[in-house]
Amino acid sequence: MSDHSYQPSYSTRPTLRVDLAQIRANYDALKEIAGTAKIGASVKADAYGLGAVPVAKTLYGAGCRIFFVATAGEGKMLRDGVGPNAAIYVLNGPAPRDKGVLLGAKLKPVINSLEQAQYWASVARTVNEPPYTAIHIDTGMNRLGLSLTDVVELGRDKSLWSALNPEWVMSHLACAPDAENPMNKTQLKRFRKAAAQLPLTPLSLANTAGIYLGKPYHFQMVRPGIGLYGGVATNTPAQEVSKPVATLMAPILQVKYIQAGEPIGYNSTYIAPRDMRIAIVGAGYADGVPVSESNRGTAILHDEEVKIVGRVSMDLTIVDATDANLAVEVGGVVIFRGEHLETESKSAKTINYELLVRLGQRCRRDYWKPKKKEPEY
Ligand SMILES: *Cc1c(COP(=O)(O)O)cnc(C)c1O
Repeated sequence: MSDHSYQPSYSTRPTLRVDLAQIRANYDALKEIAGTAKIGASVKADAYGLGAVPVAKTLYGAGCRIFFVATAGEGKMLRDGVGPNAAIYVLNGPAPRDKGVLLGAKLKPVINSLEQAQYWASVARTVNEPPYTAIHIDTGMNRLGLSLTDVVELGRDKSLWSALNPEWVMSHLACAPDAENPMNKTQLKRFRKAAAQLPLTPLSLANTAGIYLGKPYHFQMVRPGIGLYGGVATNTPAQEVSKPVATLMAPILQVKYIQAGEPIGYNSTYIAPRDMRIAIVGAGYADGVPVSESNRGTAILHDEEVKIVGRVSMDLTIVDATDANLAVEVGGVVIFRGEHLETESKSAKTINYELLVRLGQRCRRDYWKPKKKEPEY
């Protein structure tokens, strides 16, 4: 090493720290509220950007055996990671080109339309031991799912029903974060009515926010996602039991002293109002720091809040470290998320889900594992 090596050791690559122990604690806390309902964990989009396999293994260790992904490819990756005993549902349904992956990885398609029902029944009739399915009813969101008239038709077609071999009947809430929204009760009523048209099957309606709507919404399974990852799910956060799990940490790459009147960053969108000390930090929008945080957002340096100045660029963000009390040095760590997901999603004019999934696509991921009573992995 050169004689400069007394600099603190650091890498230019940012780190996304994922607290798996807290994910497990969030699971346990949500399970407590859900009572006897099972938990089907939403681990789509790489577990909201945090890593589907390590997250699912952690949840499996906590007793979770049902997982929801969006696509067959996500399902296959999860199957390879969690082994043969987990039920893996593919929310976006069965598509002809995914047939081989669905059957090969023993994935369970969610049936969202009569077309999907007919298609999958034709597949299931040709294979030994076809996988169970879930029937998804659209109770008013007008996203995926069978209409109420489709449900009546499906209920009448015994041969179609038995070819599909449904294990669950489910629907999805549009307005669950707002407990007062009449849409919740409307969907609950429609869900019950639709389910009554079908052979008796276990039911599932609630996502994370739906869990907080109370027992009538829990049925036999709840499907939390954001709550497992510590994101606020409802308009009344005080009632919520989960805590943040993800922290983006990036190194200071350079420290500069600039004079009042000098510009900072692309398009010179920031002009120094005074002499400043700025830190150039090694994380940008490619790592999940939103461009919309430019000149608005904050980060944390030694427990102190520092402002983002200038436009966030692809790999770099500049913060105002003029008033920072502790050392501002190359290799020092700046934190972009953690507890701040909620305030930042407001200042970035987005939702916490979007910030979370975009986090850390390029980062080194540092998983904090639960310590006790874990299966080996
Ligand atoms: C994503 C999703 C969930 C999980 O929702 P959260 O709000 O993250 O708890 C549950 N059900 C369906 C159908 C989904 O698409």
